[in-house]
Amino acid sequence: MSQMVYTFGGGVRHDDPRAKDKNLLGGKGANLGEMASIGLPVPPGFTITTEECVRYLAEGANFSDSLREEVAKALQHIEKTVGKNFGDNADPLLVSVRSGARVSMPGMMDTVLNLGLNDETVEGLAAVSGDDRFAWDSYRRFVQMYSDVVLGLDHGLFEEALEIAKEENGYFADTEMSADDWRALVGQYKTIVAQEQNGEPFPQDVHEQLWGAIAAVFDSWDSDRAKVYRRLNDIPGGWGTAVNVQAMVFGNMGDTSATGVAFTRDPATGVKEYYGEYLVNAQGEDVVAGIRTPQYLTKSAREASGATAPSMEEAMPAAYQELATVFDLLEKHYKDMQDIEFTVERGKLWMLQTRSGKRTAAAALKLAVDMVAEGLIDEKTAILRVDPMALDQLLHPTLDPDAKRDVLTTGLPASPGAASGKIVLDADTAEAWAERGEAVILCRVETSPEDIHGMHAAKGILTARGGMTSHAAVVARGMGRPCVSGASAVSIDRKTRTLRIGSVELKEGDIITLDGANGQVMNGRVDTIEPKLEGNFAKLMEWADGHRRMGVRTNAETPADCAMARQFGAEGIGLCRTEHMFFDASRVSAVREMILAESEEGRRKALAKLLPEQRKDFTEIFEAMAPLPCTIRLLDPPLHEFLPTGDHEFADLAEITGFGVDHLKRRAEELHEFNPMLGHRGCRLGITYPEIYEMQARAIFEAACDVADKSGLAPIPEVMIPLVGTKRELEILRKLVNDTAATVFTEKGREIDYLVGTMIELPRAALMAGEIAEEAMFFSFGTNDLTQTTLGVSRDDAGRFLSTYVEKGIYARDPFVSIDVDGVGQLVSLAVERGRATRPGIKLGICGEHGGDPASIDFCEKTGLDYVSASPYRVPIARLAAAQAALR
Ligand code: ADP
Ligand code: MG
Ligand code: MG
Repeated sequence: MSQMVYTFGGGVRHDDPRAKDKNLLGGKGANLGEMASIGLPVPPGFTITTEECVRYLAEGANFSDSLREEVAKALQHIEKTVGKNFGDNADPLLVSVRSGARVSMPGMMDTVLNLGLNDETVEGLAAVSGDDRFAWDSYRRFVQMYSDVVLGLDHGLFEEALEIAKEENGYFADTEMSADDWRALVGQYKTIVAQEQNGEPFPQDVHEQLWGAIAAVFDSWDSDRAKVYRRLNDIPGGWGTAVNVQAMVFGNMGDTSATGVAFTRDPATGVKEYYGEYLVNAQGEDVVAGIRTPQYLTKSAREASGATAPSMEEAMPAAYQELATVFDLLEKHYKDMQDIEFTVERGKLWMLQTRSGKRTAAAALKLAVDMVAEGLIDEKTAILRVDPMALDQLLHPTLDPDAKRDVLTTGLPASPGAASGKIVLDADTAEAWAERGEAVILCRVETSPEDIHGMHAAKGILTARGGMTSHAAVVARGMGRPCVSGASAVSIDRKTRTLRIGSVELKEGDIITLDGANGQVMNGRVDTIEPKLEGNFAKLMEWADGHRRMGVRTNAETPADCAMARQFGAEGIGLCRTEHMFFDASRVSAVREMILAESEEGRRKALAKLLPEQRKDFTEIFEAMAPLPCTIRLLDPPLHEFLPTGDHEFADLAEITGFGVDHLKRRAEELHEFNPMLGHRGCRLGITYPEIYEMQARAIFEAACDVADKSGLAPIPEVMIPLVGTKRELEILRKLVNDTAATVFTEKGREIDYLVGTMIELPRAALMAGEIAEEAMFFSFGTNDLTQTTLGVSRDDAGRFLSTYVEKGIYARDPFVSIDVDGVGQLVSLAVERGRATRPGIKLGICGEHGGDPASIDFCEKTGLDYVSASPYRVPIARLAAAQAALR
């Protein structure tokens, strides 16, 4: 049986590679071990593996005898190192019991501090420390945390009792409570516990406490909020969490003690400045929970903010200097920005956690570029370190610096970005309104892990309390949501559903705007501007381009989208859908006239009206893209999508065509289809009504010749035939396109390079790719339809069951977001292989939604495609993901 418990601290070195394995010990455990072994001051402790958690959850909450033995031995390691014994009435060892999964899940799992206190050991602690107040403060914290986390009692009961105690004594702050006050409160707490548990008292046996806490950490892996967090972050349920048991150090031993959290650089901007907060005479969760307003770490940050409470640099210079040395050591060791927790006990610094810090996209780019310049990492590491999806944050409109701002108040700039939306006052409302398609700003006094779903649904988050490292701030930065925290002028009344800022009273549903970069809260909506690719972003993109093999194109059909995509680095169009052009109000009546015509002649008459319009579309697109290649897909959707619906649409059409309304309605009825997705669409339209494709091909070639004549830059049209399933379909339509091209070239007296190819979007097309390649000069994988037809799932109807399928692990992820590598992926690979066997130089690309998804892009790289195509705003994401795929 493999080792279940690993100790750290007290001079133990980890030679066993398992002891460094984050998958096994969790991020927190592995890093505590690593910090201890590079000589940093870490309170000794031990870690129970994630394997044990998985086993415990699978086997019905049982601890094996061998686990109990290993834990007993590891506990002795702590006792020996600290020189105190667990449960010793005279001088008790206290421990914390902490969770720690493979990846950090901030605030998702529960921690118990000061474990080992009971009615007798608390007296010992008081005597040894010479500080009664500290001892009873620690005990009341322990009773409350343990009752909440382990016994599952409502923490509100304890908070209420504390509030009443303060009120009765006329105190404002917890810090005013004396030793006797705390002692009295502990008595009340114990009464509450006994009442809530039908007489069962608070456990006095320290070993019972320990095992209760271990079980609670394991169980918290399957808590509702942990499950929500996992779903939002694609974390598998099978990983489990490790448990860390660690000797307590005390930040609540008076004014020479403190606790804090810090980042080695600014996680919002990436600037190389220590960044963090601390609280004097406090313990662990106080900083994160936002109960007291924390103080700044550095003098410069305090001065910049105008705060008066001294910074740690000023109040505890020696401990601060030691901390600064530790920061540098940690960055050199991990070669990344670190997010740490520390405690100062009577002037002595202790490290309690380190991990690579969560960061905004802007910070990620700056850190990557700066660290290359500092020689800390190389270019490849820099490219691999930035999460492509995080770039999304930088690719959205930002507030126009010249727009008028009606600033209501300014809070802390906790997470950058800007958002406008309707005020909502709780997470459930946020989720419900967002589902209706509304942009909402979640406004709370402070957030807690129960608010996660609402934070995710919201465009921005505003809190009245809490600092830069409060729950709201940390989670918002991780999610890329703009957040203003600690806006103390905001008061929220959940009964009347109103929010007051100074003298302004707003209702739930009113619109406000947040600027997470400077903490401003504004009334109403503020104008925005389009993003630009510059500075560190441009630099990293340039590096990425140097390392990627695949090309990156865009899916675009308007000149504005084309221009935007080109600015973002698109190297051509991978998919231009021509039907979008047909829906335009000015044209749809000609389209309807064509569809409802009963003869080729009638159709040609209507098509003649569309030709100049189509030519204009293509001219503008070619002007924006030449000399890059442009894949243009001929008409694809079932015709019935264009049919008139309301009475007045029919009346309009009757006027244009001269047919009666009844006649038109009957024709429309005839065109009704039961399953249009598999009906009269794609190349089937071109086969039955060749004049449609002929008109489109003519418009393409005329426009291409005109643009080449005018600008001297010739675009390269790649004419794409949709929904092909047989070689013969493509053969017929390719001839039609070639003939049209030849006619246009004669008329224009010039030629243009062009290609004819097809989409591979039906399983039959993938299987027959070898034969189809005889007619196709390129394949573009239309993985939206290929997914629908391979899985037999209609994307438009999948909403009813898809989330259940993902939840139950039937699909690992939504197959329309990330390509189903095992199934659909096989068809793609097979088509690539067979297509290349017939035509070695065949051009291969992907144009489904998947072309902008990093995991799917990784698959495309492995399969050897030539390019991916993504929507304009995803082009930079695709460039970075393609580089990462090539480097992996
Ligand atoms: P989380 O993942 O929510 O941060 P942690 O396990 O890191 O949970 O702990 C919560 C808080 O308690 C942190 O501020 C941490 O620094 C503090 N803490 C944990 N263990 C100890 C300890 N042994 N001594 C003092 N403080 C501790
Ligand atoms: Mg916690
Ligand atoms: Mg922590």
